[in-house]
Amino acid sequence: MKKNISTISIFIIISLMMISCRQTKTSESFTAMNTFMTVSVYSSSAKKSQTACQQIQNRIQELEKILSTTLPESDVYYINHSKILPSPLKPELKELLEYSADMHKKTYGAFNPALYPVIREWGFTTEEYKIPSEQKIQQLLLNTDFSVFYDSEFLPNSKINEGMELDFGAIGKGYAADEAVAILKENGITSALLDFGGNIQTVGKKPDGSLWNVGIRNPWGKSAVCALKVESKAVVTSGGYERFFEDENGNRYIHIFDPKNGHPCDGDLESVTIVCPSGKYADTLSTALFVMGKEAAVEWWKNNPDFDFILITKNHELIYSEGLNKFIEPIYHFVSVETVHR
Ligand code: FAD
Ligand code: MG
Repeated sequence: MKKNISTISIFIIISLMMISCRQTKTSESFTAMNTFMTVSVYSSSAKKSQTACQQIQNRIQELEKILSTTLPESDVYYINHSKILPSPLKPELKELLEYSADMHKKTYGAFNPALYPVIREWGFTTEEYKIPSEQKIQQLLLNTDFSVFYDSEFLPNSKINEGMELDFGAIGKGYAADEAVAILKENGITSALLDFGGNIQTVGKKPDGSLWNVGIRNPWGKSAVCALKVESKAVVTSGGYERFFEDENGNRYIHIFDPKNGHPCDGDLESVTIVCPSGKYADTLSTALFVMGKEAAVEWWKNNPDFDFILITKNHELIYSEGLNKFIEPIYHFVSVETVHR
């Protein structure tokens, strides 16, 4: 009888522990940075999850008010129109300027957040698309040299080049995802999935202890071309298949630009996915490696192997770095599949 009672008590204690540890999902969706964003948080406390989701949404809206090129109250809008760095210079903006200067240098100018006047001339901000004259493109390119900021201290009230305009479209969502991860950690959340358009950010593992399964978008269709298992990583994809326009001959002009010639990229890649812990690094590199093209992108990785990549080429080839070997599963029938080793 005594034995039965103690067995029952142990059973009750274990059941109570399981109930108290059960992680429930809280999901919030909202639109910010012109992107439909979803935050899914797993926690045993619904209140904790809701607080974290709300804080993330607030923070992203706050960041949009700093970084947007289109909101007249934003700091970037102020810079672009006054050609003066605001006073005070918000720490987020200073960090992004410093980081961008560093990444501009490291990617040999492939990542360039000063292309806004060129991109606007092609109509990407207003969706009134046009092919500008070569003379106009060359004239606008004169003001896109971000190397003027190398070693800059980014002091408030300092002047930037007349004609220069900034655009953090290629890094903003990744930066926002890093901020969201920090908020989740502050709230003690150890399992979450953030979907910010082409930017996925995972925190820890799934609540059942297995890895997150992320699908890599099919550039030619709707389904995924690869399944990728990850833990605590950003998975960021850049491609030309979502934002583009076509001329009467069916030529495609995409929203990712080659800073060397001021034209939409027209290289051998269909998409670039970067896998690494930092959202802003992944976002910067997904754009930069797309600009570089297949060969230069692989070469860049060999010299900077602190991330993993997946390249999908226009010839329907799949190329990925060796670190993903055990975690990637091609679903699409690629012409070839290649693992790149260091
Ligand atoms: P990515 O490859 O990550 O970035 C491509 C974008 O970066 C291009 O659209 C261009 O803006 C810029 N870019 C192009 N070439 C280069 C290059 N070589 N180096 C560096 N940058 C380059 N979109 C709207 O239509 N309306 C808005 O009001 C709006 N507000 C936004 C506010 C913020 C704070 C941010 C971060 C983005 C906003 N966007 C807006 C942009 C929108 O979300 C873009 O689709 C997105 O930023 C592009 O991201 P991506 O992942 O598709 O491509
Ligand atoms: Mg990017």
